[in-house]
Amino acid sequence: PVHTDAQGYVNTIASGDYEGGYIMARQPNPFASTCGQVCNAPCEEACRRGAIDEPISIRALKRTATDSHELRLGHAPGLSKLPSRTEAVAVIGSGPAGMSCAHDLARLGYQVTVFEASSEPGGMLTLGIPEYRLPRDIIEREINAILELGVELKCDQALGRDFSLSDLKSRGFQAVFLAVGAHRGKSMDIEGMDADGVVQGVDLLLNVSLGYRVWLGHRVVVVGGGDVAMDSARTALRLRVGSAESPAEYDAEYDAGQSEQYLAVDAAAIASRLGTKEVHIIYRRSRQEMPAHVTEVFEAEKEGIHFHLLTNPVRIEKDDRGRVLGLWCQKMRLGDPDSSGRRRPVPIEGSEFCMECDSVVLAIGQQADLSFIREEDRSAFGNIETTPYGTIKVDPETLATTAPGIFAGGDCAFGPRLLIDAEGDARRAATSIHRFLRGSANWEERVRFSAIQPRDVRDRYDA
Ligand SMILES: Cc1cc2nc3c(=O)[nH]c(=O)nc-3n(C[C@H](O)[C@H](O)[C@H](O)COP(=O)(O)OP(=O)(O)OC[C@H]3O[C@@H](n4cnc5c(N)ncnc54)[C@H](O)[C@@H]3O)c2cc1C
Ligand code: SF4
Repeated sequence: PVHTDAQGYVNTIASGDYEGGYIMARQPNPFASTCGQVCNAPCEEACRRGAIDEPISIRALKRTATDSHELRLGHAPGLSKLPSRTEAVAVIGSGPAGMSCAHDLARLGYQVTVFEASSEPGGMLTLGIPEYRLPRDIIEREINAILELGVELKCDQALGRDFSLSDLKSRGFQAVFLAVGAHRGKSMDIEGMDADGVVQGVDLLLNVSLGYRVWLGHRVVVVGGGDVAMDSARTALRLRVGSAESPAEYDAEYDAGQSEQYLAVDAAAIASRLGTKEVHIIYRRSRQEMPAHVTEVFEAEKEGIHFHLLTNPVRIEKDDRGRVLGLWCQKMRLGDPDSSGRRRPVPIEGSEFCMECDSVVLAIGQQADLSFIREEDRSAFGNIETTPYGTIKVDPETLATTAPGIFAGGDCAFGPRLLIDAEGDARRAATSIHRFLRGSANWEERVRFSAIQPRDVRDRYDA
């Protein structure tokens, strides 16, 4: 997605030149070290060696090169920066989309300010992906290197809460890149959702990342089969509950300083002894359809997390004080493929059963909070249209929204995807913003390709 010359850096590393490999991997990607840790590596899926035996381990090679050379060679060896320009660009959100766009625009000489709602920059890299998978010093170094290009970062500044799009216009920003991600967890339409003990997976990870106390009890059921479900389940396993039997007791223990709020441990065996005793994941399709990366599923199983496949939640049982007692589920079987090409889960009549638990963690998807788009701001830039999927409507090539001067990318424009996709959007958006600000009348012009049938190739070639 960011046009990394994967073949080039693999060859360079293979020839023993790790430093050259590092430079090739780093130059197109301001989050190369982060990618070395957690990129889902779509390049490996495309690797043609996979047709023979296994794809080349491109991500692992990137990690080897970045681990060994980042600190010594610095962030961007050989990368140039153009002289300063007067135009100012506002970037909303400091996740990989926002920070990568800020990086590219700063290198083009623009005055870039990033506004971040949270107290910490990094988006889902800092607030979602648990620290045991992505060490925080790596993100910190990569963000600092972007700030060193002259990018200004303002944390605790939320668009829609602390300022509006009209304010940005009156403060002199000539273009805006919206990169607010998708942080609102999706809910389920089943009985008992209001029970005390029903938690959103993204909120759980965010709270743990920011160091807040979380009480999940001894037995937790996580609903979902994607990365959020895996991370929620594995994080739950790391939450130390001590001997407390209830939230009140837990608070008392915590306040008395007798137990730590939570304890992250390296080994899964130690985690399951110290943390939440049992974590179960229920997923309504089979393992083959699970969206989470195969390594994550493998590691979650190794840590002792129990998987219940072809199982769907139907109702949450609560006690007379409104606390979760259990999750009623129904077994499923796979039917015909649906519009996504995956086989549709079909309920098996009479197969209902109850899983006793203290908490239910929902990890079934996220959507963007676009409440900052307001009627009264239309006069500033224009009308920002949204899609029926709750994302910002953009031209997929230029990333322009329907309001001139406003661009959007990452999860808020395309729904939850991967870190490297967010970076790819940022790169295209920065190019479009540059062309827009240079006043090029045909800034939206693009190269168009048309498919030629093999039988026409000769005629067209001769012509
Ligand atoms: C639990 C979890 C695990 C994941 N694991 C992986 C993985 O292993 N590999 C992978 O490739 N991808 C993974 N992803 C996906 C990846 O993290 C996201 O696709 C990526 O972070 C999206 O980048 P973004 O910049 O669009 O949004 P985000 O990273 O979500 O950043 C958006 C930022 O905007 C801020 N913001 C929101 N609203 C406002 C506002 N109104 N004003 C100002 N700021 C605002 C937010 O606080 C946030 O900092 C994971 C995601 C999650 C949730
Ligand atoms: S897709 Fe990920 S692992 Fe593959 S080259 Fe790009 S950043 Fe590296």
